[in-house]
Amino acid sequence: MDNTLYIVVPCYNEEEVLPETSRRLRAKLEQLMAAGKISRKSRVLYVNDGSKDRTWKLISRLHEACPLFCGVDLTRNRGHQNALLAGLMTAKDRADMVISMDADLQDDVDAVDAMVDKFLEGVDIVYGVRSSRKRDTFFKRTTAEGFYRVMNAMGAETVFNHADYRLMSRRALEGLAQFKEVNLFLRGIVPMIGYRTDTVEYERGERFAGESKYPLKKMLSFAMEGITSLSVKPLRMITGLGFLIFLVSLVMIVYNIVRWAMGATVTGWASLACSIWLIGGLILLSLGVVGEYIGKIYLEAKGRPRFLIRQVLEDGHGQKEG
Ligand code: UDP
Ligand code: MG
Repeated sequence: MDNTLYIVVPCYNEEEVLPETSRRLRAKLEQLMAAGKISRKSRVLYVNDGSKDRTWKLISRLHEACPLFCGVDLTRNRGHQNALLAGLMTAKDRADMVISMDADLQDDVDAVDAMVDKFLEGVDIVYGVRSSRKRDTFFKRTTAEGFYRVMNAMGAETVFNHADYRLMSRRALEGLAQFKEVNLFLRGIVPMIGYRTDTVEYERGERFAGESKYPLKKMLSFAMEGITSLSVKPLRMITGLGFLIFLVSLVMIVYNIVRWAMGATVTGWASLACSIWLIGGLILLSLGVVGEYIGKIYLEAKGRPRFLIRQVLEDGHGQKEG
């Protein structure tokens, strides 16, 4: 192992920020190489996610001008998560550690040093975590923090205040490669891989130039995607609700019969009211049961690995690093 680092950067219409991003990433790689922390084979890998502007032209030009830059060009826009995965899987066979980062310099490039140090100490996954959201507007801060809370409550466990700025070792990426699911929510999957993990705090800045490719609409669908691709909790909630309504219906039936016995009802009301409650509760409960099975089918269809092996100790064969 010679500590080759790849920095993977998904880019969608990022012509405005690429020159500056490249300048900073190149300086960072050269600094780390000079310090002997990473090998000379380390690279920046840009993934062009079907940009409509000159992004790919810029990446090609950067590659020609300096061997530190390489690129992957997707056939069309596939979204941030898929672009990132394409980059990670391309870098996996070439690097010992891979850092994923946004193109817009919101992720502090200087946090790379701390991530690499942790990797050298033997950590496999290092999460970049925002130390504060002081610079965000009140709206962005509350919606973003609400996003994490709702996600966690819905059973989609993610690292608080961590976006996709993280370091992963080669073996962690090999673990990730075993998750074959198409509806991919990287932030939720990575914690499932295991191994030694740690966090590095950084201050998230403003976008360097251009505008966000994640408007509120995309963010909401991203949250929905996160919940529905990680957890079957919403289905389970139907079962809970069905059970609750069923219990209420039992109480209501007793109440209706008592009211009827007291003669305080019009003809037909008691039987009608009882049926409505009972049928409603039973329908919801049945839906919940169906949901439980659908949840199982769903998880089976994902074909996730049931375990990943870190190490095997064997007599005679010595130890095998996983
Ligand atoms: N991005 C991408 N494909 C898309 C949308 C975004 O590759 O369809 C990239 C984008 O170029 C950037 C990163 O994903 O490097 C994060 O996007 P952005 O900074 O616009 O999101 P925000 O920081 O506003 O949430
Ligand atoms: Mg951004």
